[in-house]
Amino acid sequence: MSAARFKWDAHVCLPLSVDTDVSDLLAYRRAGVDFISLNIGMCMNPPAQISAVISHFAAAISTTEGLKLVDSTADLEPGVTGVAFDLEGGRPLQGRAEAVAEFHALGVRMMHLAYNRNNKVAGGCHDAPMALTALGHEVVAEANRIGVLLDLSHTGTQSSFDIIAASSAPVVFSHANASALYNHARNISDAQMRAVAETGGVVCPTGVGKFMGLDRAPTAQDMLPYIDHALATVGEEHVGLGSDMWFAQAGIDETPPPDPVTGQGFDPHYWWPEAFGYDHNGSAIGGGYLAPEQWSVLPDLLDTRFGPRIADKVLGENMRRVAAAVWC
Ligand SMILES: [Zn+2]
Repeated sequence: MSAARFKWDAHVCLPLSVDTDVSDLLAYRRAGVDFISLNIGMCMNPPAQISAVISHFAAAISTTEGLKLVDSTADLEPGVTGVAFDLEGGRPLQGRAEAVAEFHALGVRMMHLAYNRNNKVAGGCHDAPMALTALGHEVVAEANRIGVLLDLSHTGTQSSFDIIAASSAPVVFSHANASALYNHARNISDAQMRAVAETGGVVCPTGVGKFMGLDRAPTAQDMLPYIDHALATVGEEHVGLGSDMWFAQAGIDETPPPDPVTGQGFDPHYWWPEAFGYDHNGSAIGGGYLAPEQWSVLPDLLDTRFGPRIADKVLGENMRRVAAAVWC
């Protein structure tokens, strides 16, 4: 039996409900994953829903043996899966850069500034090209000051380069695949990947079938070409993994309530436009996700393909390095 390997999943999603069962995350413990970044909301989720979800997740995780909320990488322990929260988009900040510190106090350690569509902070990857706004520059400075890791997944190309230029800290793509291998607007160019690496950051290929041209859940084996391409493009110090696993739970309704400002109801066709290949039949928006059990298979696969030194970096050491530098 080989020694335990340090493993970091840069993005995992539970249903965004106060009724969600967080014990699904124990599948990561069984697969020996040391840390997961857990989504607590996206641009379409009103702040009140996000607050309620954070409270529920934090309380439930703190009473679940094998899971632990962490503030920093120093809090990680062998045999326990550390969890910190991530926010997908700048809209829940409600126009206030100070809200970054408020989310940080609730356990948020990573955030994107846009989710697929444009907002007052930054542009999304499924919308018209848009620069980082003046508010966006304030948010970047505040995230740098507080120690929140900036994530460019779901962000428009122009805004992503603006954030890279503005940030004084390393930035990441926590869950994004190379468009050189599969062309989709959620995927990213080699130039974006290289620019992230130049900040000292990390690019994490993601296990979403739709962004790999698959209509099923990807396997660890399916990840290899994306990891291979990332290593060839940005080098072994700058590649990690973010599954984007989404757990379906029977009877849980995570439909966002109406927007508190506009009163408009949630429209999935706006956030995941058909024009970008999304369908809206059941839960098929993602086309299947890399399951936590695949983390048990990844070390041997990566060892065989890239050797144990590079495998360790991809499995978790690169993300741990960046988080330790940014969260401090
Ligand atoms: Zn996402």
